[in-house]
Amino acid sequence: MKIPHSQIKPFLFTFVLLINSAFLCFGNDLNSKIDSSKTKTISFTIKLKSENKVTIKPATLKFNKHLAYSFTLDDGYRSAYLTAFPLLNGGKISNSSINEWKIDQGGDGTVSEGLFYSDGMGNKIPFKLALAINGGSIRDLPENRGHLSWSEVKEMYNAGWDILNHGFHHATKHGTNYKAEVTENTTSIQQNLDFTMSHFVVPGGEGDEKYYFEYEKEALNNRHFSVASYYGVGPVFKVDSKVDLDKMISARTFVQSSKDTTSFRTMDKYSKTIDSIVKQKDPVWFNEFTHGTGNTNLWNLSMRFPDFKYYMTTLANKYGLKGNDSIWMAPWQEVYEYIWLRDRIKVNFQHKNKEVTVTIQLPEIPETFRNRDISLNIETPSKFEIESNKDLKIKDDGKTTHKQIFIQLK
Ligand SMILES: [Zn+2]
Repeated sequence: MKIPHSQIKPFLFTFVLLINSAFLCFGNDLNSKIDSSKTKTISFTIKLKSENKVTIKPATLKFNKHLAYSFTLDDGYRSAYLTAFPLLNGGKISNSSINEWKIDQGGDGTVSEGLFYSDGMGNKIPFKLALAINGGSIRDLPENRGHLSWSEVKEMYNAGWDILNHGFHHATKHGTNYKAEVTENTTSIQQNLDFTMSHFVVPGGEGDEKYYFEYEKEALNNRHFSVASYYGVGPVFKVDSKVDLDKMISARTFVQSSKDTTSFRTMDKYSKTIDSIVKQKDPVWFNEFTHGTGNTNLWNLSMRFPDFKYYMTTLANKYGLKGNDSIWMAPWQEVYEYIWLRDRIKVNFQHKNKEVTVTIQLPEIPETFRNRDISLNIETPSKFEIESNKDLKIKDDGKTTHKQIFIQLK
């Protein structure tokens, strides 16, 4: 029997009620388990320094940021590890490195201190990207391979980079088994890296007319929450009210180098797009892609390393820690999960004199989520502290700018 996802819970609930009436003693136990998972709440107490007005609500974006920017590298090329990762996360960028396809996937050989934004509470966070990978092309040899190895992907994943499903073989041509492409890649990543991908990026290429519809359908039917495809919503998302994330299909736009290798004019054009997005009054989420980031413009669908470095450094200098610190440079899944949770929590607070009790009702969070973070925007002229709470991982800026509270759910 096939049950639509949205009906699974009512179905289970009815099932439990049936069992309950048949086996009363077990039934009570089952019932209380279900009830507690449905009404899970957390709470904590804020002590205000002075008696002032307070309002508390979920922050539009994590850490009260103005721009969420998600950037994905498609196809799992090795330049991601040799150049992009050390540039953003800090480390030695590879020297020029000629790969099996006779192209240079290395960078400029310099040491990068990393590119950062801050959480507004004194901690710097490195820029992170997503990788859309094909398990079928991940390998350890040859030495000059063009694709990533499992250990390289794992290292980037552990550093907070998101890994997105891009099909097992990147197949697009007539005769492709779309369902197998989606599910074999899921299995491959589960077996080799021990986690489950939950977002899909349609592989581009020559295929039957509108083949991407098949990928969209198979990905959404096989436990993916969203698909990046040829046409869809975005790349700029309004996030100041509830975002329709359910079975989301988004449009991919690419940042690519031009033939001009003597100036950064092409990159300046892309940067100007971001400038115009940032200028908007309300916070937004912007989402872009490229392929390689090595010295050669791979397949003419990539960013040459000097362009990539210029583009990311410009972004960091304007909107990161060295600039106005308004960016939340976070990969697709992280932003998706934040907004999903933001739109489903219920925040209540009771204010009496200098004490505020905050209660947050939580939804049931899907198992494949990596992030269970809540940022609260607090408006009060008063400094504050949060009464220590061993059940919660909680941070705040109550002693300084008194604008936010950050909770990491277990
Ligand atoms: Zn691709």
